Amino acid sequence: MSDEPKGRRSAVQAEGRCACGGVGFEIDVPAVWAWHDHGASSRRAQGCAYATYVGSWKSRFRMLEGEALVSRYEEPQTGAARSFCSRCGTPLFYERKRAPRMLNIPRALFETRTGREPRYHLNLGEAPDWAYRQEPLEPLKGFPGVMWTRPRARRSGRAAPPEPMF
Ligand SMILES: [Zn+2]
Repeated sequence: MSDEPKGRRSAVQAEGRCACGGVGFEIDVPAVWAWHDHGASSRRAQGCAYATYVGSWKSRFRMLEGEALVSRYEEPQTGAARSFCSRCGTPLFYERKRAPRMLNIPRALFETRTGREPRYHLNLGEAPDWAYRQEPLEPLKGFPGVMWTRPRARRSGRAAPPEPMF
């Protein structure tokens, strides 16, 4: 991780917004780093198998609109703060106590490049056993567009696939 740069904004910014568009912000590019968080806390807060964040210095982050829509929740156990859009529920910012000058923003909120690829995985030990782990997929017969993972072979022969519910 590089030192916090001082002074003016960089030449390039990456803009992000929530699902309803009410909250908009930008960071200076390149961001500090990008990472996948497999921990239980982000999993629950974002409702996903794992969350992918872009980390930016707070000094290189600017709100563009919708500050009044941003709600903040502090986790009592960790002291971390999570913000979200109070209108559409999109998770916005994740501030960790151990890195108080850093703002972690879901990568999915940016439409343009942030200058960092997500190459780091944190809290892998907390990854759930139902997360997709790049198992080989094949088309599900009779359901165009649906791929599935064949169950592992069982001692008592092959299990029939369950009836899909979509
Ligand atoms: Zn919103």
